[in-house]
Amino acid sequence: MDKKQAKKRIEELRKLTEHYAKKYYDDDNPEVSDFEYDMLMVELRNLEKDFPEFNSKESLTQKVGGHVKEGFKKVTHEVPLQSLQDVFSIEEVKDFDERIKEQAIKNDIDNVKYVVETKIDGLSAALEYKQGKFVRGATRGNGTVGEDVTENLKTVKTIPMEIKDKIDITVRGEVFIAKKEFEQMNQIREENEEELFANARNAAAGSLRQLDSKITAKRPLDIYIFNVQKIEGKEFNSHYEELEYLEEQGFNVNPVRIYCSNMKEIEKAIEKIGEDRESLTFGIDGAVVKVDDLHFREILGTTAKTPRWAIAYKYPPEKKETKLLDIRFQVGRTGVITPMAILEPVKVAGSTIAKTTLHNEDFMKEKDIKIGDTVIIQKAGDVIPEIVEVVTKKRNGNEKEVSIPRTCPVCGAPAIRLEGEAAVRCTGIECPAKLFRNLVHFVSREAMNIDGLGENIIQQLLDNGLIKNINDIYTLTFNDVASLKKNGTKFAQNLINSIEVSKQNDLYRLITALGIRFVGSKVAKTLAKEYKTMENLMKTTFDELSMINDIGPVVASSIVEFFKQEQTKDLITKLEQAGVNMNYLEEEGSDNRFEGKTFVLTGGLENFTRKEASDIIEKLGGKTSSSVSKKTDYVLAGEDAGSKLTKAQNLGVTIINETEFEEMIK
Ligand code: NAD
Repeated sequence: MDKKQAKKRIEELRKLTEHYAKKYYDDDNPEVSDFEYDMLMVELRNLEKDFPEFNSKESLTQKVGGHVKEGFKKVTHEVPLQSLQDVFSIEEVKDFDERIKEQAIKNDIDNVKYVVETKIDGLSAALEYKQGKFVRGATRGNGTVGEDVTENLKTVKTIPMEIKDKIDITVRGEVFIAKKEFEQMNQIREENEEELFANARNAAAGSLRQLDSKITAKRPLDIYIFNVQKIEGKEFNSHYEELEYLEEQGFNVNPVRIYCSNMKEIEKAIEKIGEDRESLTFGIDGAVVKVDDLHFREILGTTAKTPRWAIAYKYPPEKKETKLLDIRFQVGRTGVITPMAILEPVKVAGSTIAKTTLHNEDFMKEKDIKIGDTVIIQKAGDVIPEIVEVVTKKRNGNEKEVSIPRTCPVCGAPAIRLEGEAAVRCTGIECPAKLFRNLVHFVSREAMNIDGLGENIIQQLLDNGLIKNINDIYTLTFNDVASLKKNGTKFAQNLINSIEVSKQNDLYRLITALGIRFVGSKVAKTLAKEYKTMENLMKTTFDELSMINDIGPVVASSIVEFFKQEQTKDLITKLEQAGVNMNYLEEEGSDNRFEGKTFVLTGGLENFTRKEASDIIEKLGGKTSSSVSKKTDYVLAGEDAGSKLTKAQNLGVTIINETEFEEMIK
């Protein structure tokens, strides 16, 4: 790489790492895995080493990545909360040991000892005690200035509010959420339909950095203390001694610490922590190797970002070899056919992997994946396991190449891959795998516009076997709908009415409802106007369609392909038999009965969601507003209507209930 290229790449890497670090530290919402981030940092560090003329203090290789979040009081750390130098191989640990030994000889120190500890995957915090009482706690922030999170830390049960000795001490620890607690927490969030946390570290960071400590109190935060930052009136000779003192004082001290006298022992300790990693109750992202002698540490000193007396060893993502037994195809709700590798079950990074996605055709081709292959799968932390490579030298010639089928494995309709797309999709309108989505689209406002047939009702109808195909909508009875959970008889009648009304829709709505790829309501209108009947449209040809303005070759071929399918023909026949209009009607007469009228909705409605009611008002030419004023024409008041109703009463605005509203829109 020449100088110019290096400069360009360094700039790119700095931008990228800044962006990812912001997502990770400031937003607690990482965009890439730690491994990916670490690899970018390694590349950046190496380039900066080879081209020192481009070094900058602003590079993330030289400074701690976080910032102080708005809303928090700032705390200046008397002793900076530094980061650690990462290494990714035992060779690099050996280099570190060599450097330390060299310094030891220079400074006449013999018998260098180390402590190897678990590197807890959480976020750093400093806890300050005055006369033995907890007075203040802060996050690491940018290493020099952190966020005051005292009140939040007080909710962490393992932080003592008072320690044994009445001394002034500042300690440093890692706030985290243990694995089991994290799983339970996410499970509860799932039940409450709240967004899930990507991993325990983000959950811990997001929970500690809350402006409202009541929220923090509900989160299962824990802490392991791993260092004395500052202490008055007491001195220690070694780190190990320091940790024992912290334990005596009542702190929850990092439980895994292995005392080592030489490189061999360090290597063993790192291995042991790696082996135990999965069975630990808390997540780790490496092992920290630290010089034990505190006086020697002072001699070794620090750089702006990291101490010279410690390093963090990062475990590589675990890789395992296994056999690819079969490739199966799954059809998703949007019709995308995804290849899945069925594997001989194998344990990787704590979980048993028996299948994994092969994403799409390009991925399979790029990796040259065949049935019967020996493959290497990799799992890094909480990342989804993936096939990274095929062991081609283990092939015996019986491996079978497969590609994604061009007929849908569920319904047999043609499956196509469009230019510029990676996915192969089923085009069958009656494909059971796609039925839910197709139904939702069929009844939607721009298509058949069947009021009341929302996703929830569609799901219930499917679950109860009342709908198996799209045309079953038109055989639904009052009793079918009334038999569903929580739907009154009135709702059932309204829905049956809406279904009946939809039979009279213009042809363009039906064309839209069919969900032909690239045919939205605009193209559907053109087609309805041009062909006048469904029968004519079904007979059209590619050439004929291409003559129409606004219809390009991609759209034309999509239409022709669609109408060629037996399931399309079958559906249209059934819809016709059910009485659905197949003809073009002159422009839909517009009904503007609410023109110039403003509605305010308040309280809960029984038969409509707020959005549905607003849509109807707007469709009929009216407007909706969120606040009541003299200009309001109607207040539609549902159950438990609140202050808006009172205001309407005071202003003398006309108040209507749901039944009256239904009368008005009939
Ligand atoms: P670091 O996390 O690698 O190391 C320093 C931290 O380790 C300290 O702040 C300390 O709190 C913690 N630690 C845990 N146990 C410890 C122990 N026993 N002794 C000493 N320290 C201990 O360094 P960093 O600069 O905070 O951040 C780099 C880390 O953050 C990397 O793991 C990186 O992958 C991750 N990161 C990820 C992304 C992403 O987008 N995924 C972005 C930025 C950073």
